[in-house]
Amino acid sequence: MTETLGIVGGGQLGRMLALAAARLDVRVVVLDPTPNAPAAQVSNEQIVAAYDDVSALADLASRCDAITYEFENVPAAGLEALESGGKLRPGRAALAVSQDRLTEKNFFVSVGLDPAPFRQADSHADIVAAASELHQGRSDGEVIVKTRRLGYDGKGQARVTVDQLESPTAQDTEDLHEYLGGVPLVVEKLVPFDYEISVIGARGLDGSVALYDPARNTHEDGILATSTAPSGADGDVVVQARQATTDLLHGLDYVGVMGVEFFVNPDGSLVVNEFAPRVHNSGHWTEAACLCSQFEQHVRAVTGRPLGNPRRHSNAEMRNLLGDPLPTATDMTSQGDWMVHLYGKGEARPGRKMGHATRLTGPA
Ligand code: AMP
Repeated sequence: MTETLGIVGGGQLGRMLALAAARLDVRVVVLDPTPNAPAAQVSNEQIVAAYDDVSALADLASRCDAITYEFENVPAAGLEALESGGKLRPGRAALAVSQDRLTEKNFFVSVGLDPAPFRQADSHADIVAAASELHQGRSDGEVIVKTRRLGYDGKGQARVTVDQLESPTAQDTEDLHEYLGGVPLVVEKLVPFDYEISVIGARGLDGSVALYDPARNTHEDGILATSTAPSGADGDVVVQARQATTDLLHGLDYVGVMGVEFFVNPDGSLVVNEFAPRVHNSGHWTEAACLCSQFEQHVRAVTGRPLGNPRRHSNAEMRNLLGDPLPTATDMTSQGDWMVHLYGKGEARPGRKMGHATRLTGPA
C-alpha cells in the first residue's frame, strides 16, 4: 500500500487532496514554487520549486510512492521526470489529451462522443472559413474561438458571428488570431444548450469505475458560480452522461478522478465540452453530501486503494467564494447550514477563488 503521495501544484485542489490523504494516513509532499502554498499548509512537506524544475521533480518522484497533479498544464519537460518511475497517475496520455483542445475533441469523437462541431484554425482566414463552414454561410451564426492550449475559466476565448468576422468593426474581429495571441486555435459552433452539467468520475488501478451524480452548473464571467446536485436532468440525460464519462475513463486507461462537462440541449441530447484530468470545482459539493468525497476518491485511486462509495446522501448546493470572501463566509458560517471551506490564500484579488461553501438542501 502506498504511504507517500506527491502532488504537483499547491493550490486549493491540492489542499483538499492533502486533507483527504491525511484521513487515510497517507503522507503528502507538495511541489509548488510559492512557499507555504495553500496545499503545503496542510501537507507533511513542500518542495519549493518550479513545475519544470526537472531535478526537483525527480526528487519528488524518489520520495513518493505515487505522484499526482492538481492542474493539467504541467510542462512537458517536467513530465518526463515524473513518468519515468511509472508513478504518475493519471498517466501522461490523459494529460496530453486534456492539454490540447483539438486533440481532446478528436479523442471524444474516437470514443463515440459528440463535441460541438469544430474546426482547427491557425490564422484569421482559417477562422473566417471555419465559422462560415460550420454555419453554412449563415451570417448571424455564432462561433466560439478558443486557444488550443492553456485556456481556463473562459480565458483565451472569443464569441463572434460570421458577420462580425466578414465585416470587422473592432480590433478583435480584424485579426482574431492575433488578438488571441497568434497561437493555434479551435473554432466551435455555438451550442444553443438549455443548461450545463458535469459528472465527476473515478477509475481505480483495477479498472473499476465510480461515478457521482451529475451536478447542474452556473457560471458568472466565465467562472463557475454554483453547482447543484441533483441536476434536475431527465433520467435519460443522466444515463447518457454517466455512460460518456465511463467511456472516457476506460478509453484513456485512466487512474484517478476526472470532471467531465456537458451541455444539455433542449431535446435532451448531450454535447461534451471538456474534461479535466483531476478533481474538479463542480465536485466540491461531494465533501458535504457523499460518504466518500471526490478528494478521498482520487487519493484512493492513485494510491491503489479500492474506490469508495460515491453515493449522495443529501441534495446539495455549492457556491464559489470569489474575490474577498470573508464577509460572505462569515455570514454563511453564522447561518449555520453552510459548510464553509476557505483555501488559505493570503491575497484576495477580484475573481480569485478564495473558498467555497456547500449547503445541504434536503434528503437524497
Ligand atoms: P470552456 O472554457 O470550454 O469550458 O468554456 C467556458 C464556457 O463557455 C462554458 O462553460 C459555456 O458556458 C461556454 N461555451 C463554451 N463553448 C461553447 C459552445 N460551443 N457553445 C456554447 N457555449 C459554449
